[in-house]
Amino acid sequence: MIPSAFEYEVAENPQHAIELLNNFGDEAKILAGGHSLLPLMKLRFAAPTALVDIGRIRDLSYVRDGGDHMAIGAGTVYEDVHNNNDLVRQCPIVAHTAGEVGDPQVRHRGTIGGSVAHGDPASDLPTVLLALDATMVVQSAEGERTIPAGDFFKGIFETALGPQNLLTEIRVPKVPDHGWSYQKFHHRAQDWATVGVAAVVQRSNGSIGGARIALTSMGETPLRAGAVEQALAGGADPAEASQQADEGTNPVSDPLGSSEYRKEMAKVFTRRALEEALSR
Ligand SMILES: Cc1cc2nc3c(=O)[nH]c(=O)nc-3n(C[C@H](O)[C@H](O)[C@H](O)COP(=O)(O)OP(=O)(O)OC[C@H]3O[C@@H](n4cnc5c(N)ncnc54)[C@H](O)[C@@H]3O)c2cc1C
Repeated sequence: MIPSAFEYEVAENPQHAIELLNNFGDEAKILAGGHSLLPLMKLRFAAPTALVDIGRIRDLSYVRDGGDHMAIGAGTVYEDVHNNNDLVRQCPIVAHTAGEVGDPQVRHRGTIGGSVAHGDPASDLPTVLLALDATMVVQSAEGERTIPAGDFFKGIFETALGPQNLLTEIRVPKVPDHGWSYQKFHHRAQDWATVGVAAVVQRSNGSIGGARIALTSMGETPLRAGAVEQALAGGADPAEASQQADEGTNPVSDPLGSSEYRKEMAKVFTRRALEEALSR
C-alpha cells in the first residue's frame, strides 16, 4: 500500500532534529532506519504528517567507553553494535543479541534507538536492556533527561518518550565478569522471538550469586522475571526457579504460538538461559 502524504526533512544534528520536531508539531515522527515505521505507514497503521530523518546524523552513531558503562548512540545500526569489540568485551550480551535481530538487511539499516523507541514487546534488545538495567538518554527543547529501562517501556508501542523527544544514547553497565545468555526461540532464523529470555548472572562458586532475567513477547512490554530472580535468591536451582518464569506474564496468542504455549516455552528457555549463563 501507499502511505498517506507527509512532509519530510533531513536533520543535520540532534539539535536540528528537535527544532524540526517542534516546528512540525505533535503528529511528526522521527525516521531512523525505517524498518518498523515505514511498514506501519504503508499499512496506514501510522500516518505521521511529517518525518524528521535522523539517519544521516553521524553524531548519533557510536560506541564509547563511559567509565562504568558503555555508551551507544541511538542511531547505531545493529551490525555496528554486533561487531564492536569493546562491547563484546564489556557487555557481550548486547553485542550478541544485536546479531540475533532479523536478517542482514534489517541489521544494516535498523538502529538500536529505533528498536527502543518503537516499544514493540517482541523486540530483542529492549529485553536485554531491561535485564541490564540500562539507561536511556533523551533530549528535548527543555534539555536532557535520563530514564532507567525499568521506567521506559509503558505498553505496546508506548514508551516514556514524548512527541518532541529524541532518544540520543543508551548506557549499558559494564558486566565483563558476569555470565550471560539471550535465548531466542523463533521458528525461522529471521523471525521475531516467539519467546526470548535474557539472563545476566553473577556467579559464586559455580552457582548463581545474583541474577537479572527479562522476557521478550510475554506481555505488553519486555518483562522482568521477578519470581525466578527471587527463587534463585532463595536458593532454588535453575530448573526449579525457571518453573516460575510465566508468573505475572500475559502473552498474546498469535500464529507463532498460543498464550499457553508461550508460557510453557518461557519456562524451558529460562532454564536454558540460566544454564548457559552459568557456563560462560
Ligand atoms: C523483516 C524484519 C524483521 C525484523 N526482525 C526483528 C527481530 O527479529 N527482532 C527485533 O528486535 N526487531 C526486528 N525487526 C525490527 C527492526 O529491529 C527495526 O529496525 C527496529 O525495531 C526499528 O529501528 P529503526 O531504526 O528501523 O526505526 P524506525 O522504523 O525508523 O523507527 C521506529 C520508531 O521509533 C521512533 N524512533 C526511531 N529513532 C528514534 C530516536 N532516536 N528517538 C526517538 N524516536 C525514535 C520512530 O519515530 C518510530 O516511531 C525486524 C524488522 C523487519 C522489517
